[in-house]
Amino acid sequence: MAVRRRGGELISSLVAIPSPNPPGDERPLAAWIAAWLDRRGIPSALLDYAPGRSSLTATIPGREGGALLLCGHLDTVSPGGDSGAASPKGWQADPYLPRLVGDRLFGLGATDMKGGVAMLLEAFAAVAERARREGPPRCSLRLLLSADEEDGYRGAEAMTKAGLVEDALFTLIAEPTAGQVLVGERGEFWLRASFFGKEAHGSTPAEGINAVMACARFLLEIQSKVEELPSTSLLGKATLNVGRIEGGRQVNIVPDRAKAELDIRLGSEEAKASIIAALEEEGSKAAAPGRFSWETISYKRPMVTLLENPFLQMLAGAYTLVRGERPLWEAATYCTDLPTLFPTGSPAFALFGPGDIAQAHQPEEWIDLRLWERDAGVLERFLANALFP
Ligand SMILES: [Zn+2]
Repeated sequence: MAVRRRGGELISSLVAIPSPNPPGDERPLAAWIAAWLDRRGIPSALLDYAPGRSSLTATIPGREGGALLLCGHLDTVSPGGDSGAASPKGWQADPYLPRLVGDRLFGLGATDMKGGVAMLLEAFAAVAERARREGPPRCSLRLLLSADEEDGYRGAEAMTKAGLVEDALFTLIAEPTAGQVLVGERGEFWLRASFFGKEAHGSTPAEGINAVMACARFLLEIQSKVEELPSTSLLGKATLNVGRIEGGRQVNIVPDRAKAELDIRLGSEEAKASIIAALEEEGSKAAAPGRFSWETISYKRPMVTLLENPFLQMLAGAYTLVRGERPLWEAATYCTDLPTLFPTGSPAFALFGPGDIAQAHQPEEWIDLRLWERDAGVLERFLANALFP
């Protein structure tokens, strides 16, 4: 497909190489990007945490120590519906066949986040080209494109283990922020609550112990506890989603088992401690001793950056120059690779990328190429100021 607008060709090429997760197979896309970089004289390396699960990294060495990190992810969500169908549920056409309608480029991952990856690749190649002409940038610039962001963050974990973030001075995560500079993200606390009762005939419920009813009482109480948590100024209010529930086996049997999976998003580590206290308390109120347990499925800590960081200020300066206004300094409601890349410490970072998060994980996902060009311009100015002062 011939796409005249800037970015269109590259985003289309990335969309056309499927990388849905699950099942997860980033290798073909990572290999294509490695070849794209190689054609521009830029060496890169693939880092596999499992067969086919490739992340990609490349570094432009700087004159001084430290590195700016440009981060994106290679995987997309799966298109949903019957994976064998030509047009999965909600899609009007093959989600891997990019379609341009006006300025909108449609395709799976166009926004989340092959549009962002294309922006990073073009910016990275521009810095490499300038370094060839003028000598190395002030500090190193490193590209980190992860596998498995949409499922278990295992690509990011492998990159951290490989020591690729140790020298980070500033980290830019190119998730779709609609070109806003976001300076925080809420934490993600996933847990499973289990209830154990005693079976009895449905006509004599008093003879049994109903695990489903205990679970139901517990969930309603936990929801109000989460709603009562204090709001943090940047990351806002904690939220709860009960994503899965299961229990019982037949309408006329008192159920002896129930479990629920909870997705709690929170703004502070203190909120996590309060939630754990509430789980213990409400669990013991809803069920007798030994009839309740809970376990963590996964936890990603909330992150807030330091607004005084000089690189963040330079990014804000580039934003202001292009947009004619100061950034809003808001935070993301969602979780990115960031807390996995930095399990400890207080990294300086921003979330900044093209495309609207409302488009992410949706059928008929699209990105506006006109706005992509604007946001790519902000990143290029930022890198020029930060690396070639
Ligand atoms: Zn994403």
